[in-house]
Amino acid sequence: MKKIDYIIDKISKQQQKLLNLLISIASIPSPTGRERKKIQFIKKIIDEYEVRNTLIDNAGNLIVKFPSKSKGKSKKTILIVAHTDTACDPGEKVKIKQDDKYIYGHGICDNSSGVTALLSTIELIKKNNLEFENNLIIGFTVSEEGLGAKKGMKQIIKDYGKQIDAVINVESHNIGRVTNQVIGQYRIKLSVNAKTGGHSFRDFGKPNANIILAQIISDFSNTKLFQEKEKATFNIAQMKGEGSINTISKTATCLFEIRSDDNKNLQKAKKTLGMIISKYKKQFSDISIEINVSAEIPAVVFPANHKIYQITMDVQKKLDIVPNINSGNTDGDISMAIGIPTVTIGTSNGWNTHSMNEYLEKKSLAIGFKQVFMVICSIISSY
Ligand SMILES: [Zn+2]
Repeated sequence: MKKIDYIIDKISKQQQKLLNLLISIASIPSPTGRERKKIQFIKKIIDEYEVRNTLIDNAGNLIVKFPSKSKGKSKKTILIVAHTDTACDPGEKVKIKQDDKYIYGHGICDNSSGVTALLSTIELIKKNNLEFENNLIIGFTVSEEGLGAKKGMKQIIKDYGKQIDAVINVESHNIGRVTNQVIGQYRIKLSVNAKTGGHSFRDFGKPNANIILAQIISDFSNTKLFQEKEKATFNIAQMKGEGSINTISKTATCLFEIRSDDNKNLQKAKKTLGMIISKYKKQFSDISIEINVSAEIPAVVFPANHKIYQITMDVQKKLDIVPNINSGNTDGDISMAIGIPTVTIGTSNGWNTHSMNEYLEKKSLAIGFKQVFMVICSIISSY
C-alpha cells in the first residue's frame, strides 16, 4: 500500500497532463452508435502504455484485462467501466474552448472525464507494475446514452457476467456521488395509425393521428399520478406527424419515457398509459396504436451499508469529499439488475451535461481522478 500512497501523492502535480488528455479525448466526436474513432484512439494510447491484453468485443467495446498473478484460490473479478459515447451529436468536430477556470465542449465532462480517469489508472497500474490479488477487467463501453440502451454494458455482462463479483462505473460529473440505486425506466415509441387520412375540409371528422396522439399525451399528463408528486416522471420527445395543412394526418409517433425510483409507481404509471390507449382504441375502432418498447428497467436498490459503498465513502472522506448516496441510470443499471454489487462514482465537477453547452471545472479533475484511482485500488485489493 506504501507504493500506492506514493503514487497518489504525485497525482496532484499531474493536473496539466490530465487536462491535455481530457481535451484530446473530448475532441473526437462519439455520439451514441458512432464511437469507433474514439475507441481506436483510446486503444492507441493503451498500446503506447505497452498493455497487451486488449480486445474489441462484438458490441464495439474496448476490453482490457489484468489477470491476477496471485496463486490464492479465492480470487474475485472486478469489472471497471467508463462509457465513451456522448448524448448529443456535435457534428464533424467538437469545439473546445477554455478560460482560467473552465473547459467548454460537448462531452468534456460526460464522459471524457471518466475515460481520462480510467486511462490514467491503466497508465499508473502499468508504469508502477501494480499487482492485485483479484482479477481486473476494464471496459470502455459504447452506446450507454439514450436509445443506445446500454448496449455495450449488456454485451460485457453477457460475456463476463457470471465471473464478475463487483462493478465500479466511472462516470462524469458530481464528485462525491455514490450511486446505489437504479431509477426504474419504461421507454417506448408510441405510434398511431389512423389508416384513412383524407381532405381536411371534405373529410373532416375522420380520425386524425396527430390529434389522437396529442390527446393521449394530454390525458396522461393530466392524471393524478403526477399531480400527487409521486416519485414518477414522464417525458415526451420527437413528436412527428404526417400530413399537410389541408390533409388529415394518417400517422403520428413520439418517444415516451416513464421513470420512477419505486417499482410500484412505475407499474402504476405504465398501467395508466395502457388504459388511456385502450380508451382511444375503443373510441376509434379502425385505427391502430402500437407500443415498441426500447427499454424496460426495474428500479433496484442496494443497501448503502454494503461494503462496496463503505469502501468508496471511506476513500472520499480521506480526500475531504462529501459522499452523496443517490440514484441514477447508467451502465450500472445492467449489472445491478442481475444482482452484482455496483458503485457509480463521478470524476469531475461539470454542468449542462447532455447539451452542447457542457463545461467542466479544471481543478476538479485531479481530485476526481485521485478519488477514482484510490477507490479502484481499495476495492480491488480488499474486496
Ligand atoms: Zn454519463
